[in-house]
Amino acid sequence: MQNKKTREKLSRLRREILQLRQRLEQVLAVALARTPLIKGNVYEIARRCGSPRCRCTRGQLHRSMVLSWSENGRHHLHSLPPAQVAAIRQKSGEYLRFRRARAEVSVILKKLLAVLDQIQELRCEVLR
Ligand SMILES: [Zn+2]
Repeated sequence: MQNKKTREKLSRLRREILQLRQRLEQVLAVALARTPLIKGNVYEIARRCGSPRCRCTRGQLHRSMVLSWSENGRHHLHSLPPAQVAAIRQKSGEYLRFRRARAEVSVILKKLLAVLDQIQELRCEVLR
């Protein structure tokens, strides 16, 4: 027979499970979207070209938009034509959202397992 304290704990843990389930559903909505993803960050770089007589040696650096990403420990940089910047930035934003959601799923699942363990502990009866 469960005492009052145990019943209250179980009740709190059940509410926690329902909250975690709700949060999981919200987070998974990100994964259910159909929008394409592009790995990497879009930003502007300014650099010198190396030509000794170029204006960039006098501080007017060459500016361009790039997509940067890492794969297998290697860093990649890809120049973006101006017409593509908006679309790629959008998809790279989606990728970031997806990765954040994935990380949060992992946190939620760990919490869920911890709650399940506590519930199991509290619900288990021992015969004496
Ligand atoms: Zn230059």
